Amino acid sequence: MKKIEAKSTVLLGHHLKALKLPTMHAECEKVARRCAAENVDHLGFLLQLCELELIERERRSAERRLKAARFPSIKALESFDFAAAPRVNKPQVLELLRCEYVERRENVLLVGGPGTGKTHLATALGVEACGRGKRVRFYRVTELVTQLLEAREDRQLGRLKAQLAKLDLLILDELGYVPASKAGAELLFDVISRAYERSSVVVTSNLPFEQWTEVLMSERLTGATLDRLTHRCTILETGGESYRLRAARRRRSGEVVDAASGGK
Ligand code: ADP
Ligand code: MG
Repeated sequence: MKKIEAKSTVLLGHHLKALKLPTMHAECEKVARRCAAENVDHLGFLLQLCELELIERERRSAERRLKAARFPSIKALESFDFAAAPRVNKPQVLELLRCEYVERRENVLLVGGPGTGKTHLATALGVEACGRGKRVRFYRVTELVTQLLEAREDRQLGRLKAQLAKLDLLILDELGYVPASKAGAELLFDVISRAYERSSVVVTSNLPFEQWTEVLMSERLTGATLDRLTHRCTILETGGESYRLRAARRRRSGEVVDAASGGK
């Protein structure tokens, strides 16, 4: 009897592997013992195993999506201190975290001074979207422009654009400085206009919003592309004062000798 059992266990292992159910394979004996002890019937046992497989599968694919998104560093909203960022509209951020804008293929523009948490918030939005099954890719704008130019050089532009077209959410960090070359700028704006109404774009920029048009227009880039980005979008302002500078100032304010008199 024991021998037959051992044989069927081995065979079951093979079958579960062939069916690509690694978690069911790893867990079946343990769950079977537990179900036997707890008098769970056969269907209940099967249900438990299926649930384990599904949970593990979802975890692995979320991990893959997170990796594929290439965030410079993983930032979550939990580590964002809203009290230190009084200009940031918290309810608006929480609303965005529900990712409904991605469903609606709308855009988000994060505008504020350097060090005010734009990249942090954009990353947190991207990480959340990954967790909700969205395909996300984070680029610094300069990095994307370089890749587009290189791809064109190598006749791989079609391939790169096809990859970008598959995304649900494209994050463009640090837009505002006009790309070094006119060709680069045109490729970038082609990407943005292709995303229009097909996927969402989150853009961060140091430039005050009103200046965007000026800067880009001076490069004679089509106003239509910018219109597309700003049509159906949420604008989130992060203010002007750097989080780290503010924190440093708070620390310094406790000191007896101030930085100005102590200098030189
Ligand atoms: P920006 O992209 O606007 O230049 P970052 O998002 O890169 O700014 O922020 C600079 C650093 O300060 C990062 O390490 C970020 O995590 C941190 N930071 C900025 N704002 C906050 C905040 N309100 N709470 C916690 N950390 C913050
Ligand atoms: Mg940044």
